[in-house]
Amino acid sequence: MDGVLGIPELRRQCSWWKRHSLYSVVGVKEVMFRFAKFDKRTKEVSVYVKDFDYKSRIAEIESAVNHLPSIEDPWECGVDIMGKGHTPVDICPNTAYDSIDGEPYCVAQELRKRTLQREMLEWLPAMIEFYWQNGIESDQVEFLENGNFVRQYEDLAWDRGTDALSPYGRVIYGFQLIEGWHIRSIFCLFIGSLFLSACVVAISTAILHSFEAGLTAGSYALAIAAVTLAGLTFFSAII
Ligand SMILES: [Zn+2]
Repeated sequence: MDGVLGIPELRRQCSWWKRHSLYSVVGVKEVMFRFAKFDKRTKEVSVYVKDFDYKSRIAEIESAVNHLPSIEDPWECGVDIMGKGHTPVDICPNTAYDSIDGEPYCVAQELRKRTLQREMLEWLPAMIEFYWQNGIESDQVEFLENGNFVRQYEDLAWDRGTDALSPYGRVIYGFQLIEGWHIRSIFCLFIGSLFLSACVVAISTAILHSFEAGLTAGSYALAIAAVTLAGLTFFSAII
């Protein structure tokens, strides 16, 4: 990924109106979804979306940890100062065999992996909020990849076999844009309208040498500004 990806960049990728609307992208939230249908003509993918279920995910990890065999030799299969464990090998002092495919794996490494996954899920909401608000940089993509939030298209296309296990398809992790009112922009426009009206009053009074005439011109200016702001707010809400 080149550069930074955050809320302002997402807003810039929206349509012209949504880029300037008072009601547009203000945040991102993590969700789980399933593919509903793909329209080949428009290339649009429809999905079913539900909120990200952290509690169930953490419970799944805890269950997987509880079902791991006990570590035979706790003094072996540790990590070095760089946090790296030994390379995958057929046999190590803590080898166990997968109950489904019979593949060998290191219990100590599996336990570390699950513990990290659990820790990551506990911190994920706070970190994702921070990343999106401040911009995701290329070195943070690895974190999102580890959390399965970044998936390659080939990976999803290849996964057809797993889809067949469930009639509803596979659950994918992703992000959903949250729209909201840009309170600061509305406040700035409101203050700008008042300032503009005050300027019209001052200028009109100076030119016409009449405070009453200046006040009338100012009230017209304020009315126009108010109608414009109300119109902008109305169209922001409905489009
Ligand atoms: Zn090992």
